[in-house]
Amino acid sequence: MRDPVVIAGAGVIGLALAFELQERGERVKILMPEDEAGTATLTAAGMLAPVSEADVEHTDLVPLALDSLARYPNFIDRVQAAAGRHCDYRTEGTLWVALHRDHRAELEHLLAFMNHRGLSAERLDARSLRRLEPGLSPRTVGGYRISADHQVDPRALRLALLEALTLRGAELESSCRAVGLECRGGVLTGIKVAYGDRQAVLPCTRAVLANGAWLGHDFDGALPDCGVRPVRGQVLRLTGPVLLQHVIRTPDVYLVPRADGRLVVGASSEERGFDGRNSAGATHDLLRHAIAAVPEIAELEIEEISVGFRPATRDHLPVIGATAVSGLFLCGGHFRNGVLLAPASAALLAETIHREWADAALAPFSPRRFEVQPCPNRN
Ligand SMILES: Cc1cc2nc3c(=O)[nH]c(=O)nc-3n(C[C@H](O)[C@H](O)[C@H](O)COP(=O)(O)OP(=O)(O)OC[C@H]3O[C@@H](n4cnc5c(N)ncnc54)[C@H](O)[C@@H]3O)c2cc1C
Repeated sequence: MRDPVVIAGAGVIGLALAFELQERGERVKILMPEDEAGTATLTAAGMLAPVSEADVEHTDLVPLALDSLARYPNFIDRVQAAAGRHCDYRTEGTLWVALHRDHRAELEHLLAFMNHRGLSAERLDARSLRRLEPGLSPRTVGGYRISADHQVDPRALRLALLEALTLRGAELESSCRAVGLECRGGVLTGIKVAYGDRQAVLPCTRAVLANGAWLGHDFDGALPDCGVRPVRGQVLRLTGPVLLQHVIRTPDVYLVPRADGRLVVGASSEERGFDGRNSAGATHDLLRHAIAAVPEIAELEIEEISVGFRPATRDHLPVIGATAVSGLFLCGGHFRNGVLLAPASAALLAETIHREWADAALAPFSPRRFEVQPCPNRN
């Protein structure tokens, strides 16, 4: 039997990959730091929105996003069956709502782009929208429904993945960070790790860096120069009576209802490095826009205000695949859509690692599109 694949990072990307590797008969060892502050998966709203998130500047992402959404029902079935837990996967769809003329103009622009890409959205007038969601503001002037956009609870999904992996014998190295590479002649021989102040080397022939916004930070070893950086997102979690069934989006805010009655309100998008503080301004803006869309939100209780770091590469596309160091792979930079992209990223990279053959679907996301520096020989 081959040695385990070492995976640094236990967000949705690392854990989904570990799960798909196990599904292919591989053993996995997952490195998890003690401090999980800023983990994007724990903050994310969980919108699975290839249509709403279709981006004029990053059209390469649309096929991967649609592929990943199509994989979701089967992925969730397998994870839930293996873990014996639910992930709150829901298919009610998204309602995009305009509250005034400027909103309407912005939504028309988005709609034109979606139509151009062959993505489907159904235009709705204010009355139809309020029939679907009676809590919407009387100031609603129109919008559209995107039935293809779904959602999942990322925290529930992460717990289910951890449970499934553990039950199937994954090795979890807790309080452990990847801090560097050991290689010889361009071939991976180990991952340097730190348990607090104590350093060690985990010998391995295959490893994946899937540590989100931290990919390449404080790391000793030549990696593709993908420049991963954190893009801070602030999010509120509110509780109280269930007000909504659909995900509601305006150009200013999104509202994601959970089965347990919680409502996720998001999100800011800020270039502040790894500053994990919440700001009064972002909280104020989120609440103002949320209450403008659904006035009864003013009566809900604030349960949590949190911060997560979206992992963004230089070109805002993910890095998924092999590096110049034989045996070393990257799976990161999923930016605003990592929850959506997890099933496809995981399955395609698991195939690449297991079969030693890369799927053409991953070509646009190869880490090797960035400058590659040679790996130093260490003896
Ligand atoms: C506010 C917000 C809202 C979002 N909403 C959505 C959404 O609705 N839909 C969607 O699809 N996506 C959404 N995203 C994006 C999504 O959350 C991310 O793309 C995704 O979670 C990235 O997953 P990841 O596993 O790569 O990173 P993370 O979830 O950040 O996990 C990385 C893990 O690696 C660990 N780590 C760090 N350094 C090391 C190290 N040296 N060694 C080992 N482990 C390490 C960290 O502790 C962390 O636990 C949102 C993100 C934010 C911040």
